[in-house]
Amino acid sequence: MNPADYIAGDKDAGFTFGECFKSDTADREGVDNTPPADLIPVIAATAAGVLMPLRTHFAIPFAPLSFFRSRALERLICAKAIERVREAARKAAVVRPNKATAAPLAMDAAESKYLDGKQHPKGNAVDFRIPRVSLVDAGRWFERSGLPFDQMIFEFYNPANLAAGWLHISLVDGNHNRRMILTTADGATYAGGYPATV
Ligand SMILES: [Zn+2]
Repeated sequence: MNPADYIAGDKDAGFTFGECFKSDTADREGVDNTPPADLIPVIAATAAGVLMPLRTHFAIPFAPLSFFRSRALERLICAKAIERVREAARKAAVVRPNKATAAPLAMDAAESKYLDGKQHPKGNAVDFRIPRVSLVDAGRWFERSGLPFDQMIFEFYNPANLAAGWLHISLVDGNHNRRMILTTADGATYAGGYPATV
């Protein structure tokens, strides 16, 4: 698939394949963020199931802020969280003295497990913001539409600034969508539900 091809919708209202894996961080760090061919149908399903309904309803063009992320890119973006996960694994391993030599392995395993749980590298999750639309309005509309979603996360929402933060929505296969709504103000701790709007 060519980056200029439309993965969902068309030139009047749609999203190109290239928009689904464009990443300033990847460009800057020299990481190849091109999705593998087997993930293209998943990315297309996420674009069709999450982005297109919002594009159609709000009738405002927007591009995803971050969509597919290769494992290497995810590792870069989540470096701080991975550091915490590795440190927790190291501490857990060294409290058992005879297992101390297992710490590096435990740390690698913890990192691997953490990355396995991430939804951007699977093509299931997309981060976006719609110009002039509050994240909460976009999220409430999406929830009330009854469309399936796995997680909806309000990240760094600021009621005083529509251009701050983003909405993360993921969509998984079949009947596994949990319709979980979460809010994070720091990218590390998550609370259930919508952010406060004042
Ligand atoms: Zn996200």
